[in-house]
Amino acid sequence: MSEPRFVEIERVTKRYEAAEGQPPALDGVSLEIDEGEFVALMGPSGSGKSTLLTALGAMNRPTEGRVRVDGIDVYGLGEEKRADFRHEYLGFVFQQHHLLPYLTTRENVELPLAVASLASREKRSRAADALARVGLEGKEHRLPSELSGGEQSRVAIARAIVNRPPLVLADEPTGNLDSATAASVMEALSELHAAGRTVFLVTHDDEVAAWARRTVRMRDGRIVADSAS
Ligand code: ADP
Repeated sequence: MSEPRFVEIERVTKRYEAAEGQPPALDGVSLEIDEGEFVALMGPSGSGKSTLLTALGAMNRPTEGRVRVDGIDVYGLGEEKRADFRHEYLGFVFQQHHLLPYLTTRENVELPLAVASLASREKRSRAADALARVGLEGKEHRLPSELSGGEQSRVAIARAIVNRPPLVLADEPTGNLDSATAASVMEALSELHAAGRTVFLVTHDDEVAAWARRTVRMRDGRIVADSAS
């Protein structure tokens, strides 16, 4: 047997119950990703990108097929173990970044550590480390409303990495940002990649995808291209 790859998506098909009679959202998708890769997932609206991202994110059970991360059969885990898996392995960055408006930057970043059994000094130091990685030193005490859009997105990235997850999943993280601000967000993601994390990013924007090292393209629930970028 060959060594397992870090991410192994094996012949995954997803049919949503609410979409009976429609073609499946994912139609036998297989994809392997090595640790430390930076992959952009592109494709037209409705091609299955979010479905693939959430299937990989242990949030959307495939109808058929298997998702393995670091050798773990993600949907073979019970509910609780799957939550532990998400906490340990995954960091999520969404376009709607859901920062809590009444918490400061640091408090927002520390949120995922609430359930971790760490001393508060350790939590603070991890938050400071994550904020430094995205270039937000000195803004710990601001509220989201006192930050620019790009800074808010970077807070969301810091929050996604505060647990030091090996795999970062990002869904249109630059969605409604202007191009200079989007570049600052992509710089932050690139630095995560440079630090050895695996980054998997959904985007419809070629300029954003150009930051990745590999681009996978989907159409009608299938992968139609996969190349270095
Ligand atoms: P993309 O992210 O590329 O826009 P999606 O993964 O969101 O594509 O959607 C793929 C297909 O699955 C689309 O036809 C969409 O309408 C359908 N779909 C997505 N989510 C659901 C859902 N929760 N229930 C029913 N159909 C869905």
